Amino acid sequence: MDNCIFCKLANHEIPTNVVYEDDKVFCFYDMEPQAPVHVLLIPKKHIACLDDLKAEDVEIISHLMLKVKEIAEKLGLQEGYRVVSNNGDLAGQTVKHLHFHILGKREMKWPPG
Ligand code: AMP
Ligand code: ZN
Repeated sequence: MDNCIFCKLANHEIPTNVVYEDDKVFCFYDMEPQAPVHVLLIPKKHIACLDDLKAEDVEIISHLMLKVKEIAEKLGLQEGYRVVSNNGDLAGQTVKHLHFHILGKREMKWPPG
């Protein structure tokens, strides 16, 4: 999608630090890390948020979810990690391309802020 920063990153129009990539998903380092390890995992297809997921996206989203543990292992997060997807303005979603934060290498608090 035009003017979507995450589409541009996933299409290699803007360079970034790639953690993992295949035909369906793209994972890269967050530019403002909130933990010693903080990456973002996104579908390559432009989907704005969880609310916009459709039944036809089931293959993409299940593939993405199964990649989480592989990426966590690759990043050395065997002791634990947190996965977050902010959906909508009240939740603090700032980039309107579905993304999953994967955070690790520090103790996480609950409830989140
Ligand atoms: P959210 O607030 O849940 O929408 O998360 C958006 C995340 O994207 C934030 O953690 C930003 O630091 C991150 N971000 C925005 N633009 C970029 C970029 N060009 N490269 C890497 N991370 C980005
Ligand atoms: Zn996009």
